[in-house]
Amino acid sequence: MKTVSSLLDDHWYERYKRISKLNFRSSIYDVTNRCNLRCKGCFFFSSGEHEAAAEENDIAKWHTFVEKEMERGVNLAILIGGEPTLCLDRIEAFYKRMPTFCATNGLIKVPRDRFPDMMVGLSLWGTPEDEKTLRGKDTFKISSTNYAGDPYTYYLYTITPKQLGKTEEIIRKIKDVGLKVHMQLLSNDEGVDGFSWQPEELIAIRDEMDAMLAAYPETVISCKYYHEIITTGQMLGRPFGWMECPSVTLSIDNRAPQPKRLINFIRWSSDLQTMHRCCTSETRDCSTCKDGAAHMSWVMVNKRAHMRSSQDFQNWIEVYEMFAKLYQFIPW
Ligand code: SF4
Ligand code: SF4
Repeated sequence: MKTVSSLLDDHWYERYKRISKLNFRSSIYDVTNRCNLRCKGCFFFSSGEHEAAAEENDIAKWHTFVEKEMERGVNLAILIGGEPTLCLDRIEAFYKRMPTFCATNGLIKVPRDRFPDMMVGLSLWGTPEDEKTLRGKDTFKISSTNYAGDPYTYYLYTITPKQLGKTEEIIRKIKDVGLKVHMQLLSNDEGVDGFSWQPEELIAIRDEMDAMLAAYPETVISCKYYHEIITTGQMLGRPFGWMECPSVTLSIDNRAPQPKRLINFIRWSSDLQTMHRCCTSETRDCSTCKDGAAHMSWVMVNKRAHMRSSQDFQNWIEVYEMFAKLYQFIPW
């Protein structure tokens, strides 16, 4: 095993030192089973997770629950749904206590007087035409009005095969409203016609993602290694999938051998008792999973494997930095 200092020059060592003190202990929470949209291909609804448990409506129980999560060591709450902004008082139970990230479709503006520095990720599925096809609405028009210039907000741009050749149009629009963007790829959970990735499309979109990062470095929060991992599903010659996934709920993780995984990770249902299998769809075939966060975490938990060369270790640092920026543990 090589040492950190033998692999890095002064510049990279400084960057490494900045992230090496961070110690993420994230978990994911379904804030509600409801949503004000119904997107085709939404993993939450397509896998029936919205019916897995009845919502807990007693706000006092949410406060007690978050206290217990802190005792469990969680220091990053990732709020999803359904649509979390339908339940601001539940969001507040987390936000008052720990770094909190809220994934939203952006149709409702989080009041910044109540949540001044909460990280917000706005979902976006493409051009107005594609959004209308998949989501029934051009959400960008509304979300960009709600959040323009907000320093704690970025777009979570889910790229579909239909976006090939169109990503620049989107990224320029995001730049123009003064926001950042992070790219991920659609896993076509509902088999919508024309939205499943073909091998040649994955090669093409990787080039396009690299080009966007080069052209819009102030807007795009990403790195080339992440593009490689997400489009190839390979890391250091290993294929992504169930046996490698780091984002599996702790108490149902009976894999043998145990892969490197997120420590104490649980994805909780909105009854605050039921747990889901992983950070994404309960019913998804892991061999076709393109979840961006799971792939990012996959790299992050495999630090030692990346210490075989300077280039590999720098790639690892860049992915770690990207994650830390997305949750504002370090500045953009
Ligand atoms: S806005 Fe999000 S939670 Fe709601 S249906 Fe669409 S993808 Fe699902
Ligand atoms: S669906 Fe994706 S995130 Fe869930 S266990 Fe499978 S590979 Fe991991």
